[in-house]
Amino acid sequence: MDYNVNSEGFYGEFGGAYIPEILYANVENLKTNYRQIIDSPDFRQEFDSLMRDYVGRPSPLYFASRLSEKYSTRIYLKREDLNHTGSHKINNAVGQILLAQRMNKTRIIAETGAGQHGVATATVCALTGKKCVIYMGATDVARQALNVHKMQMLGAEVRPVHSGNKTLKDATNEAIRDWCCNPSDTHYIIGSIVGPHPYPDMVARFQSIISSEIKQQLTAQEGRDYPDFLIACVGGGSNAAGTFYHYLNDSRVKLVGVEAAGLGVDTAETAATIHLGKKGIIHGSCTFVMQNDDGQITEPYSISAGLDYPGIGPLHANLSVSQRAEYFAVTDSEALAAAMELTRLEGIIPALESAHALGVFRHKTFRPNDLTVLTLSGRGDKDMETYISRF
Ligand SMILES: *Cc1c(COP(=O)(O)O)cnc(C)c1O
Repeated sequence: MDYNVNSEGFYGEFGGAYIPEILYANVENLKTNYRQIIDSPDFRQEFDSLMRDYVGRPSPLYFASRLSEKYSTRIYLKREDLNHTGSHKINNAVGQILLAQRMNKTRIIAETGAGQHGVATATVCALTGKKCVIYMGATDVARQALNVHKMQMLGAEVRPVHSGNKTLKDATNEAIRDWCCNPSDTHYIIGSIVGPHPYPDMVARFQSIISSEIKQQLTAQEGRDYPDFLIACVGGGSNAAGTFYHYLNDSRVKLVGVEAAGLGVDTAETAATIHLGKKGIIHGSCTFVMQNDDGQITEPYSISAGLDYPGIGPLHANLSVSQRAEYFAVTDSEALAAAMELTRLEGIIPALESAHALGVFRHKTFRPNDLTVLTLSGRGDKDMETYISRF
């Protein structure tokens, strides 16, 4: 079985491009051109040099000895938290801005939840001198004030969205509406492996730099190019997709995704889409969706604004039903405890999203010789207010 996208944009029964007629030309244009553009030598060269000199890659692969000792196993952390702007989101934002340039798009729009993707997008727009509009739910605007100020300082216009729960789903709806009105000059930089084909595949390819580095770094540090386990948190699923990418078809490597259970998978306050979602269509893609019996999308909840999305990348829906990957749901309080644990054992304050991945050690036991790589998707700066109020 091949776990990558097929030529129609499907991962097994998931994926595709379910879009309004008015976006057809734009999405079709992207679909026919993205591979040729991003595989061209001139694109690769510009992408690689920005990854190195601007983002600060390769990000280190750090052996966490005190954390390893605590759980009697061997744990490496892939340090995406050390990237410019503080998370893995910049990898995709750089890739997509170079693509937009080559497609002669002058205006960029994006959605953001916690603000990390908004900051990454505003950053690459400043870097390339492009007009930038960021849609953000009004609730998130209020709880992520620092990132809003950063986006504005970078020259972006932040448009608060007042519909629905006023969070990520609503911001995404508004960004799609904008794209429908401005199809010719605007490129929509989606921040995760969600949305219509070819976005999930395109974003996964930009994030796949994470696993190509892991291969090289494990070879240098361990003398073998694969781990026994890969672990990453899953919101839409892009940092996990980048972590898994070059190992998807390597059965020696077990894949573990971690979603946000919120207050618990048996409560209504949760964002555990893989555990609780049903097949449906959200934002142009067929995937698991949190919905009620009438098919209405339900409002997700997580302490982490980067994980409260009611859908999931179609790649993960397929990895889950095919049992290629195992998915755990970690609660708010487990994630908080894991964040504090990493901070005190390793001197690294993780993003709340990444703390969910760390929470897996409370659910699953690893053997002493198991070699695990866990992707630390971001740093905790943006979450300090939550940490201050909880600790
Ligand atoms: C956005 C974000 C996530 C969740 O997005 P994915 O697409 O699932 O990777 C996870 N961690 C951090 C730090 C983020 O900013």
